[in-house]
Amino acid sequence: ESKKVGDKLYYLYNDELEYKIQQKLIVERDLKRSLKNEEFEILYQPKVDINSEKIVSAEALIRWKHKDVGYISPNIFIPIAEKNGDINLIGRWVIKEVCKEIKKCEVNKDNIVPIAINLSRVELYQNNLIDYIRNTMKRYDISPEYLEFEITETAALNDIDYINNRIRDIKSLGIKVSMDDFGTGSSNLSNLKRLDIDVLKIDRTLSIDIEEDEKTKSLLKAIINLAKEYNIDVVCEGIESREQVDILREFRCDMVQGYVYYRPLDICKLKKILKGNK
Ligand code: C2E
Ligand code: MG
Ligand code: MG
Ligand code: MG
Repeated sequence: ESKKVGDKLYYLYNDELEYKIQQKLIVERDLKRSLKNEEFEILYQPKVDINSEKIVSAEALIRWKHKDVGYISPNIFIPIAEKNGDINLIGRWVIKEVCKEIKKCEVNKDNIVPIAINLSRVELYQNNLIDYIRNTMKRYDISPEYLEFEITETAALNDIDYINNRIRDIKSLGIKVSMDDFGTGSSNLSNLKRLDIDVLKIDRTLSIDIEEDEKTKSLLKAIINLAKEYNIDVVCEGIESREQVDILREFRCDMVQGYVYYRPLDICKLKKILKGNK
């Protein structure tokens, strides 16, 4: 996996550890400058209604094309940026860029769908995040139904009340909130009960073998049913095959996102596809 990213860098440092250290130094040194120099781009991956197969939303996914070392994956630079605080700059840049795009679509009377922005848990600890969101929406004059936020699922029960309050702050602006990556790492089922979310995004690792594994089927079925009980919509992420879609439809999953329908697209491609979406 790491060999696919920062490819030019890998040739220079073919020792794995050396490569990781260099990568970290480059991210820490260059991220701010690269944001100013427009080395970042946003791709949009549609979420599809499992019954109508129409696009109902799209997720903003950041990309960094470093001018010297090439493509660096968000899986590499986001964790580093979370540690040194640069994530807040990234987050603000993404919010602003997405609001600008939404405004352009409205002005040009393009078909648009709500755009979901990933928020790192670290970003929720900035005391003026909500003001920034509100002010940016005002500045570009866009309405809240075109925005959504995705927050990664966490088992950190010590701060669950804090997280829930921030979720409510965002919802009070009229913006929907999803729980992202449900079922990974530090998963906790009771978060589903305790967090005031609108949408649950089930991580791809949970449904990856749904075609052949009966236990996976039961697990997915149970999670989807529980979410329904709580009035939470369900998206399955990283769906790559028709067979997976058919099973998830049977389980009354609401939406799917994955290569089976669309990969992350540049804004022009997304707009083109949305033209035929209604
Ligand atoms: P995520 O939010 O869970 O996004 C889903 C990831 O799965 C994306 O990777 C997407 O390209 C990939 N994916 C989508 N469909 C499929 C599929 O069918 N198969 C497979 N194998 N993968 C699929 P990506 O774009 O590399 O992003 C990785 C993570 O980086 C995201 O996971 C998110 O946590 C984070 N991220 C991306 N953009 C931002 C951002 O603007 N802000 C923050 N805070 N985090 C971001
Ligand atoms: Mg996400
Ligand atoms: Mg996810
Ligand atoms: Mg993820």
